[in-house]
Formats: sequence, structure tokens, C-alpha cells
Amino acid sequence: MAWVTGHQLRLFNSLGRRIEDFTPSADVVGLYSCGPTVYSYQHLGNMRPYVFADTLRRALRWHGIPVRHVVNITDVGHAVADSDTGEDKLEVAAARERRSVEEIADFYTQDWLAALAALNVQPADVYPRASAYVAAMIEFAKRLEDKGYTYRLPSGLYFDTAKSPGYGTLALMDIAGQREGERVEIVEGRKHKSDFALWRAEEPGVRRIMRWDSPWGWGAPGWHLECSVMSMSLLGDHFDVHTGGIDHRELHHVNEIAQSEAYLEDGRPWVRYWLHNEFILLDAQKIAKSAGHTLRLADLVESGYHPMAYRLFLLGGHYRSQLDFTTTAMDAVQATLRRLIAKIDPLRPLPPAETLAGALALLGAPAAGSAAAAVHDKAALGYIDAIDAAISNDLATPKLLATLQDALRDPDITADGLRVVVAAADALLGLRLGELKPAEVDQRRTADELAPGAREEIERLIAERTQARADKNWPRADEIRVELDALGVQVTDTPDGPAWQLR
Ligand code: AMP
Ligand code: ZN
Repeated sequence: MAWVTGHQLRLFNSLGRRIEDFTPSADVVGLYSCGPTVYSYQHLGNMRPYVFADTLRRALRWHGIPVRHVVNITDVGHAVADSDTGEDKLEVAAARERRSVEEIADFYTQDWLAALAALNVQPADVYPRASAYVAAMIEFAKRLEDKGYTYRLPSGLYFDTAKSPGYGTLALMDIAGQREGERVEIVEGRKHKSDFALWRAEEPGVRRIMRWDSPWGWGAPGWHLECSVMSMSLLGDHFDVHTGGIDHRELHHVNEIAQSEAYLEDGRPWVRYWLHNEFILLDAQKIAKSAGHTLRLADLVESGYHPMAYRLFLLGGHYRSQLDFTTTAMDAVQATLRRLIAKIDPLRPLPPAETLAGALALLGAPAAGSAAAAVHDKAALGYIDAIDAAISNDLATPKLLATLQDALRDPDITADGLRVVVAAADALLGLRLGELKPAEVDQRRTADELAPGAREEIERLIAERTQARADKNWPRADEIRVELDALGVQVTDTPDGPAWQLR
């Protein structure tokens, strides 16, 4: 390879369900990510959408594409159980915790931001709060009403989805048999099952805490409305990328598209690329606040895991794959992180290599088209090309990690070349490989501090290894040793049988 020309960035667009070339439509790409509803702690699953969006931002930066990133904070409008009616999640939490809704929103927003910082997620450019945009939401809904897309019911103002051509395309929805989905509740008088509230009027005799006056009476905006209004206010009528968890592809984003395209009526798709992350599963179930799971990053840290180990766990899977969260997996990633840092520590300081062009310049490689110059480290150049190929292929972070590991094992790469490769990989991975101290990730835990179930798992593996050795099944015995090694377990064979300790 004489020089690296760069791979086209390709992303999986949920709209159409295919991998497409990513081409920006503006000098600065507008990126909107649906943010949290701040009525309780964000669990481990909730962190994935933001690490995923962060990876996307890093990939765009790698390609030299500037981004403006908006992540909203839902502090009003999300009724209980994703429904269009009933109490607001924030109000329920305020009553439960005997605090004001503002206190609830502030407290959980700060906690979420702290977790994002611990995960090395770059801050968004703007974090708009829904409660600050209610006047704009009312204007938006008024325009939809003027255009004839809505109807009034005692429970509020509804969007008439039958008036929206192509309603449900994103979700591959069967319009003919419009679903009264599990998540869509029955509303008295609603014309079609998929119609949704733009404005949720107060029930007679019930006075909400968060209430605004509107042409449809006192009440609060519908949940879907906020994202259309905040994204268009901050990124313009059309923008390039919208992200969120896969659950949003089926309902929330479908409704965002319907109301936004009705509002604009310009015959163009509102947003060009829709990207969705799959779920993290705990005990093979979606980790969901409503199911009572609140396993948080802070819990992991308390158990001795480094936040970067959780980031590594996330990046070890592709964002469109479900990932099973287990303590065994956490032990393995923590051990991997520890080994990575131990290998990289002697290479420091690392050079800045945030873009493909920057990494190539550091290697003395010429840009495409210019006269060939001396490239001193062909091996390093090959790894930069492989990193570029991996991230450009729909953000293939598992491949990127494997490439980094290959480079660290390669006897033919120079130390300077390896520095550039590690720096480039980490510009995309965001694992803080250039700065984490070995001691920070070297929390050698004693067996007493093991996560629940881990001791049983280790002892089961050791028993299986003893049996494999007795059966002279050496390949299996070796396999198990590798597995134990990944868990940070060191086995010593003594005359009394195997003994183990944590490294
Ligand atoms: P919420 O605060 O419940 O609206 O969720 C915030 C974001 O996290 C949304 O984009 C959800 O789709 C996403 N999300 C919720 N649960 C999970 C999970 N178990 N795994 C991955 N993403 C999730
Ligand atoms: Zn949203």
C-alpha cells in the first residue's frame, strides 16, 4: 500500500433499513440524540445511546466533518408508561421523593451528566430542557391545527395520523392494520389507534404541577412534540442525523417524523439518517427503569470496576447488537483494560491523532493525489487503514479493538508508529488510553469482593479444568485457562489440587 486514501463513512439508516454512504448536507452536521427523562437514575442500559452517539461524533471528527450535537433533557411531558394521558413521570417522582419537580429534574440531570463524564462522553453543544420550550411547542401545535392535521378531544389535542402520508414508514408499520400497540393506550374518542397527543389537557378536577395555558386548555405538551420542536429550534428545519434507542424507532420517532413533516410540508424528508442502538440486556431482558432495574454506573464503580471498563464492554459489541450484561463480562473487560493500559503506559506520551489526515501526517504519509513521500512504517500505515475501514463500516468498534490488539502484538511496527496507531484508535474509542494510570485500573480485588455469582463461576471453571486434565483433554484445559485468565484469575496447581487467586 503506497498510501491510505480513506474509506467512505457508511452508516445503517433505519429509514430504509440499509447501510448507506454518509454524505453531509451542510458544512456542520446537525446531530440530535433523544435524551433522558430525568425522573430517576439512569441505568446501565440508558448509557448506551450516549456512548454510541459519542462514537458517531468521533467517527465524524475522524473524517474531518464538523458536528453540532443537541441532546434534550425531558423534564416535562413524558406521561407514565409512555402513554399520552395520565400523570407526568416527573410529578410522580416529586410526590414519591417529597421534592419539587425542579429539584428532581436537576438532581437526576446532574447525576446523568456525571456518569457521561465518567464514561468520557464528549459534552453535547446544547442540552435543551423541554420545560423551556413549551411556548414554541404550543406554536408548533397551533400550526399543525391551522393546517388541519389535528382534532380536539376533552383529553387534549391529537395528531390525526391518517392525514400523514407515509405514516409509520420508519417502523415498517402496517398502516392498514394500525396497531393498538402494547405501548399505545386506548383514548376515548381517538379516531385512529396510532393518533397521539400533541397537548395533554388537564383532567377536570385535577390540577397538575407542571401546567401551561394553551388554546386547548391548561395542561402540558405531549412527549413526542418536544423533540421535534427542540431539534428544529436548535438545528434548523432539516438536519442530517437523529439517534436514539431502538425502542424509539417504533413509536416516538415515527410520531416525530409525522408531525415534523406535516409542519414543514415541503416534500422533503425531515431528517436524512436515523440511527438506533440496540438494547443492553440484564438477565436476557431489556434493562428498563419500569421493570425495576436500576443497576447504575455508580454501582459498578463501587464494586471496583473502572468506568472505562464499562465503556470497553459497550464498544466490544456493535451498537446494533444486543449485549448481555453480566459480571463475568465485566471482569473480563476490566482485565482486558488492565492489560491494554500496562502495554500502552511505556509508550506515552501519545501524539494527537484525532483525524485520519492527522494520523497520516504523523506517519509522514502523503495525502491521496500528492507526490509519494517516504513512509517509514508500513505496518503502522496498514493499521491506520484498518482502523479507518472499521470505523467507516457502520462504526465497527469490535473490529477496531481487534486491530488495536493486533498492532500491540506486532513485532514489525516501530514504537513511533505504534504510538500513532494507539492514539488514532483511542481518538475513536475514547478509552483514555493515553492517560489512564495503571494503578487506576489495577484494582486487584480480593476474592471476598467478587461480584455475586463470580466465585461460583470461577470454581465451576476450575472444576471443569481439573476434570479435563484428568481426561487428558488438554485443548479444553487450555481453553479454560484462557477463560480464567480473562477473568483475572491465576490458578496454581498444588499437591492438594488447584489453588486460585485474583491477579
Ligand atoms: P429513557 O430515559 O427511558 O427515555 O431512555 C433514555 C434512552 O436510553 C433512550 O434512547 C432509550 O431508548 C435508551 N434505553 C433505555 N433502555 C435501554 C437499554 N436497556 N439498552 C440500551 N438503551 C436503552
Ligand atoms: Zn426524542
